[in-house]
Amino acid sequence: MIKKKNKGDLIVISGPSGCGKDSICNKILKKRKNIQMSISMTTREKRDYEKDGRDYYFVSVDEFKEAIKNDELLEYAIVHEKDYYGTPKKNLFDILNQGIDVILVIDIQGALQIKEKYAEAIFIFILPPSMRELKKRLIKRGSETKESLFRRFKSIYKEINEISQYNYVVVNDDLDDAVNKTLAILDSEKCRVDRIEELDINSIEEVMHEDLIDFEY
Ligand code: 5GP
Repeated sequence: MIKKKNKGDLIVISGPSGCGKDSICNKILKKRKNIQMSISMTTREKRDYEKDGRDYYFVSVDEFKEAIKNDELLEYAIVHEKDYYGTPKKNLFDILNQGIDVILVIDIQGALQIKEKYAEAIFIFILPPSMRELKKRLIKRGSETKESLFRRFKSIYKEINEISQYNYVVVNDDLDDAVNKTLAILDSEKCRVDRIEELDINSIEEVMHEDLIDFEY
């Protein structure tokens, strides 16, 4: 009776460092088989616990600039005033065309570029419960110097100012609750009326007609 477009969703998730975006995404990936993470390219230094090709593609500035020149990136930006980050185009649209959803965890500059190029993407902003809590989480993570913490905080204020560019906001004060809310958003998006490709009104009419004939008063 109803046929929906079998195209995956491009899901853009942004939020300040330490807001829990990665934890939310990891839980979503465990709960949903039909979702993949896009792996970004970056010139930032690899952290001890990170793996090249799993967390990021770690490249030199020259390699990154070459990728820009060759039009290999869907979007890119200098994040926290320091390092290049970008989304490789390779395979992304093939994956979406196979009906698989793809999550991009990117900053606001990248999100705005996606909005220009792929307006049907779903834009979700994750917020921490408070700035004090965020500062605590970032210091506990121990991966930042004082200077980089300061730079990250400067970016946070800029990003939060642009929150109205997103479709949804999720406050991560409880991880499971934030995951459930994000999943609810993704499920609701699949039910949008504009996703209907074909609605077979005739089949509804036929059944209605049969019912009326069989109906006993
Ligand atoms: P981190 O250095 O903590 O791994 O990432 C810092 C920020 O870079 C993330 O919070 C995310 O917003 C942003 N980021 C990661 N990958 C990309 C990307 O491919 N493009 C853009 N524009 N931002 C990214």
